[in-house]
Amino acid sequence: MELDGHISGKTQIISLIGNPIEHTISPQIHNTISRQLGLDLTYIPFKVEKHNLYDAVNGLKALGVIGFNVTIPYKSDVIEFLDEVSKDALLIGAVNTVKNTDGKLYGHNTDAEGFYRSFREETGTSFKGKLVVVLGAGGAARAIAVKIAMEGAAKVYIANRTAERAKNIADIINRNISDTAEQCELIGNPFRDIFHGSEIIVNTIPLGMYPDVDCMPVDEAIGFMPGQVVFDAVYNPPKTKFLRIAEQSGCKIVNGFGMLLYQGISAYEIWTGVKIPDKLAAELYTLMQSKVLRNSTK
Ligand code: NAP
Repeated sequence: MELDGHISGKTQIISLIGNPIEHTISPQIHNTISRQLGLDLTYIPFKVEKHNLYDAVNGLKALGVIGFNVTIPYKSDVIEFLDEVSKDALLIGAVNTVKNTDGKLYGHNTDAEGFYRSFREETGTSFKGKLVVVLGAGGAARAIAVKIAMEGAAKVYIANRTAERAKNIADIINRNISDTAEQCELIGNPFRDIFHGSEIIVNTIPLGMYPDVDCMPVDEAIGFMPGQVVFDAVYNPPKTKFLRIAEQSGCKIVNGFGMLLYQGISAYEIWTGVKIPDKLAAELYTLMQSKVLRNSTK
């Protein structure tokens, strides 16, 4: 037997608060990065009940953690307990990363940044001047649509089953970023024309996610146009039916895996100021993908 030396009085803590948190992969991502970089940091998740959110946030501040992640369902609720929030996170209406600097809590949203870094890296495509359609109008759609508009897209259509939620995101973009967003339906001929006319298609609707792998977010009969770039926020399975058909139609495809990885990497960089080397990012990508694949076949 040996004394465990992983945690000492000098170890700095990063945390995660949310509920549920049992299936999170974040501790494995962040603790692996710290071990690889030789940094004395440990990432610990806490399941927090809603009525304890304020106490949990203040407690983390009092304990001097260097930062924490916030996950479902507190990404919006946490904002009122922070000292400052980045412009992106305010427009997105959600904070997933908090940095504690000298007892002041600064909120960021790295979901949007994670999407952007992964999309740019995997496709080499920029959003500037592009026609884009985003499917869905939930939390992921809002983060992604705001980022796409901030990156200079010429047009961002938000197509959702519940029109009001799509309109809300379009209004936020039009009022605060640029007059480029429009809500549309997810069915019918006008939607088909928008879908075919978009250079970039981004899906955030969880249809096609394991175990319902035969589902699609849009009617299969609509079809894709060759050359379109198609992103699916879903990463389990790595190639959803939506992406499979897109690829068969001559589109460039990207799954949500890189977004998941880069939201974590961006958060780590915010907390520590350390730039994660590309080689480490690539190794993490492979490790995470094999873990998700193992879990989905259990
Ligand atoms: P959310 O806030 O619950 O939003 C879900 C969206 O999907 C809503 O727009 C909802 O439409 C739509 N939807 C759900 N079921 C539908 C159905 N049967 N038919 C039509 N539309 C339907 O969820 P979220 O947080 O945005 O997450 C969405 C997806 O993105 C999930 O698969 C999640 O795992 C994934 N995600 C991935 C990452 C990543 O890092 N890769 C990050 C965040 C999220 P209504 O408004 O009409 O209900």
